[in-house]
Amino acid sequence: MAQILKAKYFKHSSFMEAKLGSNPSYVWRSILWGRQVLHKGLRWRIGDGKQVKISGNNWVKNFEIPRANPHPSLSMEAVVAELIDGSNEWREDLIGQSFSKETAERILRTPLPKTPRPDKLVWHFDKHGIYSVKSGYQLAVKLKSPDRPSCSDISKTMWKVIWVNDIPEKVKIFMWRAAQNVLPTVENLWKRKIVQDPVCQRCCRMSEDVFHALVGCSFARKVWKLTDFYEEIKGLAHQDMLSVLQELAMMRGKKDIEQIIAVCWAIWHSRNCFVFEGKMEDPLYSATRAEAVVESYRRINPGKNNALAGQQQNGQQVWKPPLPGCFKVNVDAATNLSKQRGGIGAVVRDSRGDCVAAAAQRTTLKGNVADMEAEAVLLGIQVARKANCAHFVIESDSKEVVELVLKRKSSLAEISWNIEEIQECLKGQSTTSIFFVPRRCNVMAHNLAKVVLDCVDPVLWIGNCPVPAGDIFLQL
Ligand SMILES: [Zn+2]
Repeated sequence: MAQILKAKYFKHSSFMEAKLGSNPSYVWRSILWGRQVLHKGLRWRIGDGKQVKISGNNWVKNFEIPRANPHPSLSMEAVVAELIDGSNEWREDLIGQSFSKETAERILRTPLPKTPRPDKLVWHFDKHGIYSVKSGYQLAVKLKSPDRPSCSDISKTMWKVIWVNDIPEKVKIFMWRAAQNVLPTVENLWKRKIVQDPVCQRCCRMSEDVFHALVGCSFARKVWKLTDFYEEIKGLAHQDMLSVLQELAMMRGKKDIEQIIAVCWAIWHSRNCFVFEGKMEDPLYSATRAEAVVESYRRINPGKNNALAGQQQNGQQVWKPPLPGCFKVNVDAATNLSKQRGGIGAVVRDSRGDCVAAAAQRTTLKGNVADMEAEAVLLGIQVARKANCAHFVIESDSKEVVELVLKRKSSLAEISWNIEEIQECLKGQSTTSIFFVPRRCNVMAHNLAKVVLDCVDPVLWIGNCPVPAGDIFLQL
């Protein structure tokens, strides 16, 4: 079938470039409509940038097609490869000169493989870039009817995106009211003739509807910037909160949606603080409050969160030394989103629990937290090798990274650069393996990663150590 279609309709081009033609069959017409959906949902994962045009291709996350400033060395036909240097890293100067500040930052944050690889089209609406019928269908529905019908038409299942979450009832009810557009925003009060002016009292720039209050307002943005969701928030296609949640649920899991709802709730709280008490809350405080409300609910209701409950009952409670003759490498990453920094740490210990090596590095933030966790695993492997550990096991508290390395999950997103490298490194070593451990068993690596966020120089230390490694680093 594919070959027949190719011969008939796109003999000399690729499928994505094929045209409808003068006398298209019903099948071909339908396929092309499906392709339109694919087009909207695909983006390029840059490997060497040779296949991807700078203008006109989706290659920066969230669909912002960069419009290059007229820069003498870049033509309209230029490919992304021209933005990459000989060691396969982004050419920071050129990118800074050619794009807006925001786009430049976004490009520089995109992870590249350490050696050039072919570019690849991946599915944008999935964290791991993998297309599923479900997410394709959701996008198709959206393309057919971009304007969401009024609340009464929305089926009950749509509201599930709010009610299924394990968060306090008051937070759910808040979100439900936001999604119903019945929060007492200035615009809603103005519509009911309670106030004279619909303009937002915080930024004084726009009418304050629910979306503006929770997402659009520059004060709300400051809070989102401190979270892990800022990229998605900036790229939102919808403006009513229920559609916003549906859109985010295509890209994020339930736990993230819980966090996102809590952030909305915290933003509304800080907005009320300002409107009713005239107090300007520190955005960091709002972000922390959102995290705390979800965390404390999970702690009080462990039964509702099966994975977490299982861990707490049966899971390991403290770090355990490896078997004699073997070494254990604990790794972790920490991030500081406001400073766009990451820290990675690794500590190698023997069967007596003594530290034999440790390392920590500060890096610029690339990709998301999981990308940094994968970097930390690579650092751990390097350190173990430098310390001549023949047999070692790696422990990470990133379930995602561990599952990807063990191929229990797969990813086409940028994280796969690091995952493939880890798999390559671990190949030759039959006894080497990687495990997931809860955070409480990974404290030392976590501290290293955190401390190094504010240090300039990378630290590598190998040999016997009279005091626990964590303390040494704390003195640096
Ligand atoms: Zn505002």
